[in-house]
Amino acid sequence: MTALSTPDGPAVDQQVDVVLIGAGASGLSCVIEAAGRGARVTVIDAAPSFGGTASGAAGGTCIAGSPLQDRLGVEDSVGLALEDWITWGGDSVDVEWAHRYLLASRDVFFDHLSALGVRWISIHPHEGNRVPRWHRPEGGGKRVMSLLAHHARALPNITWRFGYRAQELVRSGGRITAVIAMNGDRIVEISAPAIVMATGGFNNSAELVAMHAKQAAGAERVLLGGGPEAKGEGIRMLEAVGAQFTELDSVWMYPYGTPDYLKPGTDRGLAVRGVDGELWINDEGNRFHDESLRGGASGTGALLAQTEGRAWSVFDAGVASGLILADPYYLDGNKINRDRVAEFLRSSPYVESAPSAAALAARIGVDRRNLEAAINDMNKAIAAGLHRDPAFGKPLDGIAPLDEAPFYAVRLHPLARKNLGGVRTDLDCRVLDSEGRPIDGLFASGEVAGMAGGHINGHAALEGTAFGPSVFSGIVAGRAVVE
Ligand SMILES: Cc1cc2nc3c(=O)[nH]c(=O)nc-3n(C[C@H](O)[C@H](O)[C@H](O)COP(=O)(O)OP(=O)(O)OC[C@H]3O[C@@H](n4cnc5c(N)ncnc54)[C@H](O)[C@@H]3O)c2cc1C
Repeated sequence: MTALSTPDGPAVDQQVDVVLIGAGASGLSCVIEAAGRGARVTVIDAAPSFGGTASGAAGGTCIAGSPLQDRLGVEDSVGLALEDWITWGGDSVDVEWAHRYLLASRDVFFDHLSALGVRWISIHPHEGNRVPRWHRPEGGGKRVMSLLAHHARALPNITWRFGYRAQELVRSGGRITAVIAMNGDRIVEISAPAIVMATGGFNNSAELVAMHAKQAAGAERVLLGGGPEAKGEGIRMLEAVGAQFTELDSVWMYPYGTPDYLKPGTDRGLAVRGVDGELWINDEGNRFHDESLRGGASGTGALLAQTEGRAWSVFDAGVASGLILADPYYLDGNKINRDRVAEFLRSSPYVESAPSAAALAARIGVDRRNLEAAINDMNKAIAAGLHRDPAFGKPLDGIAPLDEAPFYAVRLHPLARKNLGGVRTDLDCRVLDSEGRPIDGLFASGEVAGMAGGHINGHAALEGTAFGPSVFSGIVAGRAVVE
């Protein structure tokens, strides 16, 4: 009997071919494949609607050798991308999954998703990539997810159960046979020969982030930046049936999180962007890094090496006019809501402002001479026409001096965003137990499985390697459950 059973046990509500838990990027990709091949699928999602994390994401995708790269004259190949991937992610990269993903990336994302209406509009460079291969979709992840959802909705044989929170996997006769879910007080049990876990990561769980993000153990605070339902519930259910996990401590964090002051009493963070002219200043009032290297490996490593693993982003009024807070509250459609950004600068207790650098130093409690020297040195380098700052090598082309009052300081902490590790699976997304044997009837794809297989990225992600591989492993799982 399960922990949730009434004395008579929960009613077996439904018997289908596949139960999919989680209708995010990976789950929707999975259901399209499985239902498209004729399987009867029930989709359970705790949220009121489709989309999961990707609905609030850029949806930037690592694609090697795309038509857009060809058009823009970027010479790329699967081999080059795989070399970068392995160099960046280290010895824990799952090379087989990474290779399969890169080989499929052009077909899946250009041919398959473009046929559904996705348009790739630009490519951008990111650390670790020798050529630009991060592709931006028009309308971001939100539009991609609504196109996937539109397509999935049109397929027959799918029952959608939004607002149902999966609680427990049921094991019977050595295999996983059902899932128990709750909708308010209502308990349902849905049985199927194949159950796919696509519940995402845990970067909206302070408890799990504190438990696993060991690299940030010395930091004063780690902010949460995962999707709203990224609470790690899938991991708990998988643990309960003896699944094997890998690289759970590879929590991909960005160095530019500031507390979301509109959610007091929580650890939710906002990503601070659009401030190319900023200086990162530590508790001693000194710069410590090339601020253009803002990635999870370089920027976060530098931040965590500072006292309390925190810093200030210091800039002037000119830079402030470009500030972006990556959160729907600060957007009107695709436009920045400047009034709300101004309100943040005025009202957040994690922002200080002052008419001069000296006064700002006093407000944030750092050494005045150090802060003034950091700003003056940068301004001198810009005035001298240098292309890089002599201290840390920050590229200076297009950067203006910091000389327009008021001056601002925004508190920065690491922002936990993506799980690079998760449950281990084989190449068909079958969940493995502690001995490495498939657990019959159980599959996992997307971020709960470290995007694919358990740890496709290794210790570091090239960017665009969360959304893309989550979609890809969802497709693989959708085929596997039918085949
Ligand atoms: C702000 C932000 C920006 C990002 N930008 C990028 C980017 O540009 N490029 C990139 O590669 N990656 C990016 N990512 C990461 C990427 O979006 C995710 O890794 C990816 O979308 C994960 O997809 P998923 O389907 O595995 O999980 P999710 O999208 O998180 O979906 C999981 C689903 O499971 C449901 N669920 C969870 N628990 C339960 C339960 N107990 N019962 C029922 N349902 C449940 C959730 O409601 C959700 O719908 C970003 C992430 C964030 C937070």
